[in-house]
Amino acid sequence: MSWFGGGRSRAGGQRVRVYSIPMRTRFRGLTRREGVLLQGPAGWGEFSPFAEYGPAECARWLAAAREAAHTGWPAPLRDRIPVNVTIPAVGPDEAFAMAKMSGCRTAKVKVAERGQGDAEDMARVEAVRDALGADGRVRVDVNGRWDVDHAARMIRALDRWELEYVEQPCATLAELALVRRRVDVPIAADESIRRAEDPLRVRAAGAADVAVLKVQPLGGVAEALRVAEACGLPVVVSSAVETSVGLAAGVALAAALPELPYACGLGTLPLLGGDVVHGPLRPVGGEIAVRRPVPDEAALRRHESADPGPWRRRVLETQAHLGGPPVLGADR
Ligand SMILES: [Mg+2]
Repeated sequence: MSWFGGGRSRAGGQRVRVYSIPMRTRFRGLTRREGVLLQGPAGWGEFSPFAEYGPAECARWLAAAREAAHTGWPAPLRDRIPVNVTIPAVGPDEAFAMAKMSGCRTAKVKVAERGQGDAEDMARVEAVRDALGADGRVRVDVNGRWDVDHAARMIRALDRWELEYVEQPCATLAELALVRRRVDVPIAADESIRRAEDPLRVRAAGAADVAVLKVQPLGGVAEALRVAEACGLPVVVSSAVETSVGLAAGVALAAALPELPYACGLGTLPLLGGDVVHGPLRPVGGEIAVRRPVPDEAALRRHESADPGPWRRRVLETQAHLGGPPVLGADR
């Protein structure tokens, strides 16, 4: 029996499934989200690196899946994780409605969209502040698209509506550090953190006040906790837009951090047009309950990839770059 066919392998009693789920909202240019789910003695893990990552980069993502399936996660220190709603680059009326209906007390507003101007960003942020009221929290995400002068000018202008922080206003660490010295609003690093050593570089460069961390690119919950402690910055846990199997690892990280001063970016399940578990990790009232949902066989079948071969090869190639015990036994 093929270990990749969804059956029980002879080697380790492990089950492996490849999923392919349509996106409701385009994300990173993707119209479908795909990945591998694997079951081990500790539960299910998700391996879903983006298409452009090679095997060396993917090794950390696979380490995160191996941890979930074979090791498990540290004990939670809290039972609910506050999450933000994300407001895309829509007009102010739609932004108001989305923030209002979300049930979240924190909104992340996307700004600096290509083809739009500063006035559109200001109108959107104002609408979201109106929707959340004075005690809501409003952060903006620039995805690195401003230069230093533009960032300093816009952050001051947008802070009229009281910003919680600004995520990745510029592309480089040097630029982030310059902006940070010119404004009072805290700066968060997101794209600047893609591997375990990056948060330390961010800290050393004086480039940010907040670190956005994701479990899969950092190599697992325990490794992300270690990185958080080493860099010493407050952490916002974000997803890589995973199924509830992958989100559960982000929730476990957020639950295990000694301090969690900000709402997390884990409310991303609505971006996917389906899920693979009983009781998906969907936010309710702006929070996700800390738990680990179990895959549902019918949902797994519904979202099973018609073409698992490329993912099978990807796991094997990645495994060759990952030290330690193999994630999959090649029992075929
Ligand atoms: Mg971001």
